[in-house]
Amino acid sequence: MPAPLEPRRVSDHRSRRIAALLDGLTAAHVDALLVTSLANVRYLTGFSGSSALLLVSQRDAVLITDFRYQIQAADEVGDVARVTIEQQSLWTGLWQQLTQVPGIQVVGFESAHLLHRDFQRLMEAGSRWQWRPTLDLVETLRERKDANEVRLIERAAAVAIRALERTLAEVRVGMTELQVAGVLERALRDEGSEGFPFPSIVATGARSALPHARASAAKIRDGDLLLLDFGAEVEGYCADVTRTVVVGRASDDQREIYDVVREANEQASREIRAGMSGRDADAIARGYIERRGFGDLFGHGLGHGVGLEVHEAPRLARTADGALAEGSVVTIEPGVYRPGWGGVRIEDDVVLDAAGPRILTKFTRELLELKS
Ligand code: ZN
Ligand code: ZN
Repeated sequence: MPAPLEPRRVSDHRSRRIAALLDGLTAAHVDALLVTSLANVRYLTGFSGSSALLLVSQRDAVLITDFRYQIQAADEVGDVARVTIEQQSLWTGLWQQLTQVPGIQVVGFESAHLLHRDFQRLMEAGSRWQWRPTLDLVETLRERKDANEVRLIERAAAVAIRALERTLAEVRVGMTELQVAGVLERALRDEGSEGFPFPSIVATGARSALPHARASAAKIRDGDLLLLDFGAEVEGYCADVTRTVVVGRASDDQREIYDVVREANEQASREIRAGMSGRDADAIARGYIERRGFGDLFGHGLGHGVGLEVHEAPRLARTADGALAEGSVVTIEPGVYRPGWGGVRIEDDVVLDAAGPRILTKFTRELLELKS
């Protein structure tokens, strides 16, 4: 006879997150929160499907999804939230749930994650309740990663690094950026990535000066800079890595700019601390690049949080006042882009432990000259 199933632990990390969110609801003066961001739904309940509404109140949490996810939702969510399967529209299910839970008058919604069409539903079919916009109630909780989340990001980083090693071994003069992206994405899958958090950037020669270039049919020429910026995903958690190499022998110019970016990355990765503002973290790298005379060529922020989404809080930028939370995982990605010539970016993922920063993307920052 099979052993009886272990009872699910009700008090797991998700229940603690929901409890922390309830404190936020009290502070925001709402009786309940309608969560429509799927990353937030996943963070709070474990549900990884693509269609769900989550209603969290002091009384309980209820996940509303559809028939396609009946088995998956029960399996992933367990006892953390009630799951209801809606045959027609998730919104019909929402009105029913709201009617059934007594004492709910003011309901928060996530103003950064609600389509205007759905907002109109709240105003019309949901006009019995007062709807109040809220911002970042769950995102703020997500900034501080627990040990398991850090482990998953570290695993995703290891997948990304192994895929990068395999790809660089195959790069040759004459290959197109798209072919390199194909090798890279195949290697990411082989190494265990669940998906591609964003379209891989592979940019050769002068195109490496475009910070968000898409892979194209451009061919690698001897002596080109080649920039690869890509992600990997493990159990929903992302890593985000960039390396720039030279295919063939590096010129003095390439070496000079590379060294500036490498040193900026290394200083920021060494000196960044929890408690520092995103602006001060950005200034570590930016100040160095400015002193070396390339300040005008570093036009984006130093980095961003990574987790269930590849771009999440906090931001590391000149306009980021907020303090970096202990336990947050951020990218450090300075770059120097010279139009018509090329660009260099070096990006690592770093966890801000109490004891200091710890780098999760373990790959050399030395300039690699690939066999052409
Ligand atoms: Zn990146
Ligand atoms: Zn990034």
